[in-house]
Amino acid sequence: MPKTAVKSKIKASSSVKISKKMVYFFGGGKADGKATMKNLLGGKGANLAEMAGHPDLRLPVPPGFTLTTEICTYYWANKRSYPKGLTQDVEKNLRRMEEITGKKFGDADNPLLVSVRSGARSSMPGMMETILNCGLTEATIPGLIKLTNNPRFVYDAYRRLIMMYSDVVMEKACGIEPADDQGIRRQLERLMDAMKKKTGATTDTDLTAENLKELTVQFKAKVKEVLGKEFPDNHMDQLWGSIGAVFASWMGKRACSYRRIECIPEEWGTAVSVQAMAFGNMGDDCATGVGFTRNPGTGENAFYGEFLVNAQGEDVVAGIRTPNPINESSRSDQSRNLKSLEQLMPGCYKELAGIRAKLEKHYHDMLDIEFTIEKGRLWMLQCRVGKRNGPAAVRMAIDMHKEKLAKKEEVVMRVTPSQLDELLHPIIDPKAELKTKAIAKGLPAGPGGARGMIVFTAAEAVKWKKEGKHVILVREETNPEDVEGMRAAEAILTARGGMTSHAALVARGWGKCCIVGCAGVEIELAHKTVHIGGEVLKEGDWLSLNGSKGLVYKGKMDMLDASESNELLSEFLRLCNSVRALKVWANAESQPDAATARKFGAEGIGLFRIEHMFYGKGSDEPLFQLRKMIMSKTLEERKIALNALFPFMKNDIKNTLRVMEGLHVTIRLMDPPLHEFVPQQKDKLEQLGQALGISYEELSARANALHESNPMMGHRGVRLGITYPEITEMEARAIFEAAAELNKEGVKVFPDIMIPVVSLEQEVKHQAELIHKVYADVYKAKGVKVNYMVGTMIEIPRACLMAGKLAETMQFFSFGTNDLTQMTFGYSRDDSGYFLKEYVEKNIIPVDPFQTIDQTGVGELIKITVERGRKTRKDLKIGICGEQGGDPASVDFCHNAGLNYVSCSPFRVPIAILAAAQSQIRKPRKNKAV
Ligand code: PEP
Ligand code: MG
Repeated sequence: MPKTAVKSKIKASSSVKISKKMVYFFGGGKADGKATMKNLLGGKGANLAEMAGHPDLRLPVPPGFTLTTEICTYYWANKRSYPKGLTQDVEKNLRRMEEITGKKFGDADNPLLVSVRSGARSSMPGMMETILNCGLTEATIPGLIKLTNNPRFVYDAYRRLIMMYSDVVMEKACGIEPADDQGIRRQLERLMDAMKKKTGATTDTDLTAENLKELTVQFKAKVKEVLGKEFPDNHMDQLWGSIGAVFASWMGKRACSYRRIECIPEEWGTAVSVQAMAFGNMGDDCATGVGFTRNPGTGENAFYGEFLVNAQGEDVVAGIRTPNPINESSRSDQSRNLKSLEQLMPGCYKELAGIRAKLEKHYHDMLDIEFTIEKGRLWMLQCRVGKRNGPAAVRMAIDMHKEKLAKKEEVVMRVTPSQLDELLHPIIDPKAELKTKAIAKGLPAGPGGARGMIVFTAAEAVKWKKEGKHVILVREETNPEDVEGMRAAEAILTARGGMTSHAALVARGWGKCCIVGCAGVEIELAHKTVHIGGEVLKEGDWLSLNGSKGLVYKGKMDMLDASESNELLSEFLRLCNSVRALKVWANAESQPDAATARKFGAEGIGLFRIEHMFYGKGSDEPLFQLRKMIMSKTLEERKIALNALFPFMKNDIKNTLRVMEGLHVTIRLMDPPLHEFVPQQKDKLEQLGQALGISYEELSARANALHESNPMMGHRGVRLGITYPEITEMEARAIFEAAAELNKEGVKVFPDIMIPVVSLEQEVKHQAELIHKVYADVYKAKGVKVNYMVGTMIEIPRACLMAGKLAETMQFFSFGTNDLTQMTFGYSRDDSGYFLKEYVEKNIIPVDPFQTIDQTGVGELIKITVERGRKTRKDLKIGICGEQGGDPASVDFCHNAGLNYVSCSPFRVPIAILAAAQSQIRKPRKNKAV
């Protein structure tokens, strides 16, 4: 049998401090600890103390005691030994339990049995161990049989103890890793199955006392045979074995990987709670169950739970028997014909319902509870804050605030950004996802879930969509020419690209499910097939994607549409709005996107990329004019093309300004390198040549001349406006005329003009002068004032350092953290997906800086910029419009850095609003509107 050494990273003994009090008692209406002592007593121990001892609760809790988390740390730092005095403390507390229960641990006539459970600071469901019925030995069994007059119950409890103990204490805690299906628990289960077969029993409860007694003999022999040791027949040995095994389980494989995923430090350790057993398996007047004080799936204010008569806790979750509902509102299809607790044991149900109300009032939250009924008497075994899904979390937050059960700050802090996200997108049914293995994993670029048939080109996507089919567009990576197909697809999956790649930016803007940089994807366009994680799929095959986690599944999975509950969302966002300081704007480039952003509560547009009018639906004509402009050789040619482009641009801007009436719209001057717009196809080039009256060869030569080796650092951003001032002039004229005409109609608009990719004060000066001059002309012609500002993006480290100078002419700054991250790290925003993933996995960098602002480096530049910019211009408005603007951790950073607003994709606006509210609650800004 292979043995693995269990190693701990917890430091040497000298550094581990132990408090004098190592064991905390609870029971009999008193408790040494309380709910706030989670760090020391673990979640379970702290809540048991609260339920047992708090004057407002004093619930029926079987007495017991908790060994602190400090002992766990000591145990691992001292070669798995205990601090001096612990044995005596445990014995003292056992005596107190004996006094309250009137039973004695290890006594032959009136034996006390105990459970031994783990409890970390934050719950780690199913990760650590529990041992029930500890204290059953050859010596105590006859006494318990006499006392209960129920040999079946006693042998059932004994067989459970042997199963749990041999599995947890004798196998797992000893670092034994058996082969698949060869673990001691499985071997004992097989013996039990054989016994059932032999006796014709269909369920565990059909086994008689005699059967069970015989089984315990078989169990003990098997344990000896497999593990080479006798099952201990001494109550104290069982107790210490169990305590040690729970501490050992803290370093178990499962627990270690769970901690790594959830970022739970190893130093926290687990507590151990030892508690008098309450038996739900003594007969038909006994039961055991679990419940939630409200429905965790819908949030409805209705007590929800299930239970089993004549059973022990593990049976309810094991799924062997269908549990009964506790009341009508917990009834499901499966439990349709089963009696409820309310019907079977009305007295106990009434008491439990009363406890439910007391607990909610006391904790101000929804709780998850465990209870046992022993011979008609109710016992509470556990309570903790209950896990819930997104819609339920939001509903409970609103209801509990309305019911005056919790303050708004409390309920706002309770909803997590990912829970809110669940309300915004359809998702793959989590139940289906649990049962299915992903075939590949990429970067989670666009949220929610989607399913569809594979297509490999944008054109096919559009065609299939027209035929009423749902498709997933699978590409190496996408480019601006794919947008129509991307729009038509349910989701996008790309083999390459990072979090700011074209596919990611576009999909996120639309709130569309998208996975990029999926290393396991290899497309063979010629055969219309794709290899994904060992599977070969063809065009038309179904895929399901979880864009929030980056997981790819084969086939057509069930979906849940959580987006209907928008009224709920609005109500919750109103609560958030009433506490937050940081404004939330949106990145939107079209009238529909702006309308969506506004619907979600955006208070302005922080980025309207002017060039977006050249992509997608209705872009043919303006794109053609733009291409003409790009290919022009002379100023005259360029001006003709710009004049033709002008009405389209003005119209496009006007549409968005109109929907954003009363709010700021930040319109960014043309940014991308011009060659991005040059057509690739021969026929398009020929058509362009004809329009310009030049040959195909001449046009190809002009197109080639535009080629750049490093376009991201080439002729883009403000550099276009410096070399072709007529482009800036045309853009400014379109903006001012659109705004003036709207103002004249009585639609109050606030366009702000933003200059991209700036590094020199002379650049912004040059452009600002041009813009102000155009305004003067438009004002003269139209006679209508426009309230506008001119500002710059901060995307280059040099601009950060020169912020003081830039603020002399610029009225606002907006951090373009996509480019700023690219320029600060020197990582290409389009190509860094692959290695960044590995960087994160190898802990070289904590998170992808294109997703979450790198606070130490890029963040430092942001702080310098804010300080220097506001030194020159006190009221300088500062925002962020890079993709990180919708990321909760980055929003928190922006709140603390004193920014005025964050701007993000419309579908991330609610999340940014929540994050901003939580930041204000965590660390209030003195001046709400900085
Ligand atoms: C940025 O660089 O952060 C930005 C918002 O601009 P773009 O993504 O268009 O370069
Ligand atoms: Mg940029």
